[in-house]
Amino acid sequence: MSASPEEPKEIRLIVFSALLTALHEVMGRDGKNSVLRFAGLEKYINKDVPPSIDESISFETFKSLINSMDDLLGHGTDAILYESGRKFAIYLTPFGYSLKDVVERLSKWVGGTWTVIKDNDESIVRIVNNPICKSLAQRRTKPSCHVISGALAKIKEESTGAQYIVEEVSCESKGDPYCEFHIIKKGDVN
Ligand SMILES: [Zn+2]
Repeated sequence: MSASPEEPKEIRLIVFSALLTALHEVMGRDGKNSVLRFAGLEKYINKDVPPSIDESISFETFKSLINSMDDLLGHGTDAILYESGRKFAIYLTPFGYSLKDVVERLSKWVGGTWTVIKDNDESIVRIVNNPICKSLAQRRTKPSCHVISGALAKIKEESTGAQYIVEEVSCESKGDPYCEFHIIKKGDVN
């Protein structure tokens, strides 16, 4: 996908920091370093990235990391991205915040327009101009925002104590007008 006017210029450092910490936990130090190296972001190898909400990184840096994760982990290993998203949510926000609160923060920190369409046992979150999709180099044939799916599942679990699974039903990366996530209570899934 080529650059578009809706692309954010920068992303809050806390988002980048939480992603790196999640990658470290899921893949170990070597795995995380491989992703950074592949992204051309060697300068972040073995560097402490503080979870600052005041500082930012360029969107280009964020884009490199997302594409590297997607290239190295995305093929047949969507589950790793989903799991990284769950860890990402833990580092991104303190426990117990409501879905609406976290979505407001993510909208501010990551960019794009995030909306909670409904919030109950089957919640729906929609994102327009999703920076994750704007980062992906190629058009997809299926929804691809596994990191966000994992994060939304964890956020909902932390705020309710129940188990949830998330399915992304439409995605900007495959040409849909927005990304839409259905967050479904596990007990209610047939
Ligand atoms: Zn998507």
